[in-house]
Amino acid sequence: MTDTPTQLFIGGAWVDAADGATMSVDDPATGEILCHVADAGPKEARLAEEAAVRAQTEWARTAPRVRSEILRRAYEIIIERTDELAHLMTSEMGKPLAEARGEVVYAAEFFRWFSEEAVRIDGGYGTLPDGRNRMLLSRRPVGPCLLITPWNFPLAMGTRKIGPAIAAGCTMVLKPAPQTPLSSLALAAILKEAGLPDGVLNVVTTSRAGEVCEPLLRGGRIRKLSFTGSTAVGQLLLAQSAEAVVRTSMELGGNAPFIVFEDADLDKAVDGAMVAKMRNMGEACTAANRFFVHRSVAEEFGRRLAERMGALVVGPGTREGVDVGPLIDRTGRGKVEELVADAVERGARVLVGGRTPEGPGCFYPPTVLAGVDPASRLMGTEIFGPVAAILTFDDEDEVVSRANDTPWGLVGYVFTEGLDRALRVSERLEVGMVGLNTGLVSNPAAPFGGIKQSGLGREGGRMGLDEFLEYQYLAVPVG
Ligand code: NAP
Repeated sequence: MTDTPTQLFIGGAWVDAADGATMSVDDPATGEILCHVADAGPKEARLAEEAAVRAQTEWARTAPRVRSEILRRAYEIIIERTDELAHLMTSEMGKPLAEARGEVVYAAEFFRWFSEEAVRIDGGYGTLPDGRNRMLLSRRPVGPCLLITPWNFPLAMGTRKIGPAIAAGCTMVLKPAPQTPLSSLALAAILKEAGLPDGVLNVVTTSRAGEVCEPLLRGGRIRKLSFTGSTAVGQLLLAQSAEAVVRTSMELGGNAPFIVFEDADLDKAVDGAMVAKMRNMGEACTAANRFFVHRSVAEEFGRRLAERMGALVVGPGTREGVDVGPLIDRTGRGKVEELVADAVERGARVLVGGRTPEGPGCFYPPTVLAGVDPASRLMGTEIFGPVAAILTFDDEDEVVSRANDTPWGLVGYVFTEGLDRALRVSERLEVGMVGLNTGLVSNPAAPFGGIKQSGLGREGGRMGLDEFLEYQYLAVPVG
């Protein structure tokens, strides 16, 4: 913690904000201030953009093998420092240490995966239909990028963007969330140590996101925006990107259905529910938000889930043995409290949890609600907390249509032992990803992303690299 940088990272140097401005980083388990970091304004953002633009030409020419090995070295350093990075992440974000360690490894995997992909960027050669003309296709980096990340996965949301940008030969300005800037600053220090040239990555921490990012998006020098965050902010940034026709990748909110059919293996379904709901205390875009359980097994499923949720240990994430840390802040917890109160007013039964504990920190207990009215507010908004809301259904057509009845389409979970049904329902769900008898879909080698208002483009997998590459086509007549 004492060695963690707290300044801006611009052109390979650690610098203060011009007027010496800082902002606090708070510990969500205690509400106390952990430290202060530089609070950039538009002027420093401009300097970061200039550094990225200056470095772009040379960086694009760097051999893929060199870019690959920088990523590989950074992967190894992250893995060596798993414990240190996990403690840092837990202190600023709150998730339990075991989960933070898991995120560090997951985050590092994006560097390993894209270090392998960096040397496999291919092109093409072909004969056009007229038989006379040839087509030469090459891939090239899209150019300087603006990367904007949320607080819920402080390290992985960064590496998921930085990894492919480095592999493709793009330079970048990263703006992390103000709640969790320390993980991003630690990552910048690691990449510098791994040999990343000055100016390729620049990190701007700020409490004035709009003022800092809008001029970059409208300015015409940033060629790509990769954003992870809420749909509302994503929509605003898409509008700002339109002026300079900035290419965009948008990883936005979700409202995941979790469907348990009458032929499901209930042990698997409850295990899956624990992961899909409780990973990151429910503060995940992939979190199961609406549990649709077949009427014939709903009571049994609810009883078993409540038993498992009730046995989880809530406390500061830094304490070993804790399963559920605090939510990110009072606002986040207040929203969860309101959603639960609304559902209960509309007749939901609280099987476990549901009461905010006294004392400091932003804790909220694992909660299971049964008999939830479909008109409840939590059906149409991300709960972003440890609350499982159970509704019942009677047949397949009905549940598919209810699951799809939302503007979001990130992920869905389907539990059934029937292969026909598993494939049929997965194909009918309007989502970018399906967890079939599993509560976890995230994997650096797979294309992560949603449809509808959950976003545009994919992160991870081979497709994650495509987002940072353009095609150039050469027409060559050969007589
Ligand atoms: P958020 O409020 O949209 O913020 C995300 C990032 O955008 C933060 O860095 C934020 O900084 C910045 N931002 C906000 N307004 C901006 C503006 N006008 N211009 C430029 N940047 C701006 O979301 P959040 O509360 O941090 O994160 C939770 C959301 O992220 C949820 O909706 C979740 O589903 C989504 N998410 C999606 C994925 C995915 O892969 N699909 C993954 C993780 C999270 P400030 O906080 O300073 O405004």
